[in-house]
Amino acid sequence: MELYKENQLKIYNSLTKQKEFFKPVHEGHVGMYVCGPTVYSNAHLGNIRTFMFFDVVYRYLLHLGYKVRYVRNITDAGHLENDADEGEDRISKKARLEQIEPMEVVQRYTVDFHNVLKKYNFLPPSIEPTATGHIVEQIEMIKQIIGKGLAYEVNGSVYFDVIAYNEKNKYGILSGRNIEDAIHNTRALDGQSDKKNPQDFALWKKADEKHIMRWSSPWSDGFPGWHLECSVMSTKYLGEQFDIHGGGMDLKFPHHECEIAQSKTCSGVDPVNYWMHTNMLLLNSQKMAKSTGNFILPEQILTGENTILNKAFSASVVRFFNMQASYRSVLDFSSDALLAAEKGYHKLMEAITILSNITPSKSSSFSVNDWEKKCYDAMNDDFNTPILIAHLFEGVKYIHQLKENKELLTKEDLTLFQKTINTFVFDVLGLLDDSEEDNSEKLTGVIDLLIELRKEARENRDWAMSDKIRDQLAAIGIELKDGREGTSYTIK
Ligand code: AMP
Ligand code: ZN
Repeated sequence: MELYKENQLKIYNSLTKQKEFFKPVHEGHVGMYVCGPTVYSNAHLGNIRTFMFFDVVYRYLLHLGYKVRYVRNITDAGHLENDADEGEDRISKKARLEQIEPMEVVQRYTVDFHNVLKKYNFLPPSIEPTATGHIVEQIEMIKQIIGKGLAYEVNGSVYFDVIAYNEKNKYGILSGRNIEDAIHNTRALDGQSDKKNPQDFALWKKADEKHIMRWSSPWSDGFPGWHLECSVMSTKYLGEQFDIHGGGMDLKFPHHECEIAQSKTCSGVDPVNYWMHTNMLLLNSQKMAKSTGNFILPEQILTGENTILNKAFSASVVRFFNMQASYRSVLDFSSDALLAAEKGYHKLMEAITILSNITPSKSSSFSVNDWEKKCYDAMNDDFNTPILIAHLFEGVKYIHQLKENKELLTKEDLTLFQKTINTFVFDVLGLLDDSEEDNSEKLTGVIDLLIELRKEARENRDWAMSDKIRDQLAAIGIELKDGREGTSYTIK
């Protein structure tokens, strides 16, 4: 039986502001959309906090046996400087400053993002669509919204009519803003904006002559508004109504509010059943943010090249640090906090090594099942990773007592104990054991030695030995190739 059938997951829904039992649209399947990075610069550790939490959500859902389609987009057009409808496109601006193509900017920071996520042991999402790859679909959605009477064109730009939408729907439902507060930062100068109401937001913007990222449309040569891509891509890959939509809290307004309005106008239904928002990572008590310069890059933590920390830390320590806090609380980044996390992480890894050497007894002196249930209960309670970690440390205490024969476990219980701790630590939290050595250099050394011995055998006309070395290496997937330059190899 799939684990999700016996684990009743509860999720804090930002829309209803309460924890709700999770019931997917299609039993056994979960559709999850998380707003991805705007690839105009390196993702900072704050961004990573948000993506890392959803990585753990994805991991846990997979562990429970759900078939998950996890969509995390790449924003490579349309995100203007001030999150609103005015200013330069962030990617275009970077391209102009560096005198390179916008798509070079996109490529550079997408590759960097992927490299960082790999180092931090993220699972790749099922689909990673881009805004520029869905311009046609975005134009189609604008046509639909115009068709429903909720968007209008002025001078080649198209705006969503928030006031008209609000007559039958509630704009502000997610962020709790009333319609008067929900004003998008348009330049206040009268006559500068084409909008009918200051609350309206752009679906399509006409590009001025200098704007390099532009596409033709029925309204003008221009580019889509930032909010549109997520409505389009979530609908395309997950349907009009799907299970989970995530992002940082700072995206609630205007981004997610606008997404709801766009999607609901087209489909008539609320697009998302569970909205999840992560709280902010702070540095020096301020939100970590690129715009203020108050940030650290995930790569700088690994190399130690930064002015905030006294030393380098591993990716797993950073993961552990993140998971020690509830995703709905702010989290303060500091050298002391990382040092404490490093201590805790090493304690945990050390205990896991000890556990693999414990000998079983004839009886058990504590209930592994009860302890296991507490671990699941923690994750089922809105992915409560700090409580899970507290239970894992209760496990650490048991391990030391087992070592000293103060507690006992049967073979069966010991196996369950090991399996559970490994599942939660490595599969669900996504930690790695840093002490596991990288043996690739040693492997290279051994193969080189065997190639040398085979060469000697051939020189001595010992064909049997030479063939034995070649065939037995081939049997384990290492293929030798003799060439003019000597013998090379490939590992399959
Ligand atoms: P962006 O690339 O700016 O669109 O941001 C990518 C994601 O990172 C979004 O979900 C943001 O809400 C999130 N984010 C930005 N700053 C922080 C922060 N300081 N702490 C946590 N998440 C953040
Ligand atoms: Zn989005």
